[in-house]
Amino acid sequence: MSDTSVYGQSLEQAAEYASSAVKAMADLGIPAHPGNFVIWYNYFAGTFPDLKKTIDILIGNKQDFTPSRCEEIHDKFFGFGGEGAIVDEATRRVEAELRQVIAYIEDADKGALAYGKELENASGGLASTPAVDDVKALIADVINATETMREKNSALERRLNESSSEVKKLQSDLENMRQEALTDALTGIANRKKFDMELRRAALEAMESGSELCLMLLDIDHFKKFNDTHGHQTGDQVLRLVGSILNDMVKGQDTPARYGGEEFAIILPRTPMMAAAKLADSIRERIGNKALVNRKTGIKLGRVTLSVGVGRFDWGEPLTQLVSRADQALYMAKGQGRNRVITQEHIEQSELALGG
Ligand code: GH3
Ligand code: MG
Ligand code: MG
Repeated sequence: MSDTSVYGQSLEQAAEYASSAVKAMADLGIPAHPGNFVIWYNYFAGTFPDLKKTIDILIGNKQDFTPSRCEEIHDKFFGFGGEGAIVDEATRRVEAELRQVIAYIEDADKGALAYGKELENASGGLASTPAVDDVKALIADVINATETMREKNSALERRLNESSSEVKKLQSDLENMRQEALTDALTGIANRKKFDMELRRAALEAMESGSELCLMLLDIDHFKKFNDTHGHQTGDQVLRLVGSILNDMVKGQDTPARYGGEEFAIILPRTPMMAAAKLADSIRERIGNKALVNRKTGIKLGRVTLSVGVGRFDWGEPLTQLVSRADQALYMAKGQGRNRVITQEHIEQSELALGG
């Protein structure tokens, strides 16, 4: 989306909005840093109707523009790579397009009404025993009206086709944005947001179908040291590699995700603990056995290993509990020397043994 589609104003106009923004911030005691400026500039430019509405409501209710409130507004409309603003702009385009469509249809309705009148007049003219010339004139009128109607209809069809392709384009823009918002930019697999969504969905499905659901948490061992030795960019390449191996090694129903920095997760619907532990171990082996080489320099980077924790969902429990069990197992894997898989069953067994 080009800037001009959102900011299509002249230099003078822009200067006016900018000075109104600076004045408003001074009046309201808001620090004029770029984050706040973008809010108030757009408020005066009226770029995003929802932003204007929000601020007007706050002003109307005599609410203070505290730093945290300003930050919230900024995040909502301009956070996440301007996602909020883009969605707003897309919504505006959809609304404009729909208004157009409604106007076309109203136009067409008027045209049809006029055409109906024309036909009525003609038949009225015929009823009163007309002369041949009158009949000819009437027929000519009807032909004219029909031709006009036909032209209007084909213009309408053309406009509706244009509108429908614009709406289709918007749909695909929005779908792409949605996908982007749920994808981790570095590794191309699901991000934390998508992970949260999928885990909720998988838990519901597990309860509905009475099936097992497992969760795997994987954390790269001593990754700080790897970064320190080989540099952050090489570290990023390793994260990409891990992401793509996880993607390769799971089935279609499973969701591999980047859970955080150097931590990954895999949601495993309809998977018993035994199978989840087996998969965890083959992932651990596959990654740990890979001799890493920097493609550009040819320098050997050694190997990276993973520690993995696996938890199993108890129907009805809060999902934080499932995550926390998998995390506990992961923590135990680290404690026992890393490069290994620990399941919640190991923890349960060791608790039993301790309890004696
Ligand atoms: P442990 O075996 O206990 O997990 O040790 P660790 O060093 O992997 O764990 P720690 O939590 O101490 O450090 C995690 C490191 O992961 C710190 C940071 O350098 C690295 N890291 C996190 N996110 C990224 C990233 O996006 N790119 C790169 N290259 N490194 C990252
Ligand atoms: Mg680590
Ligand atoms: Mg970690």
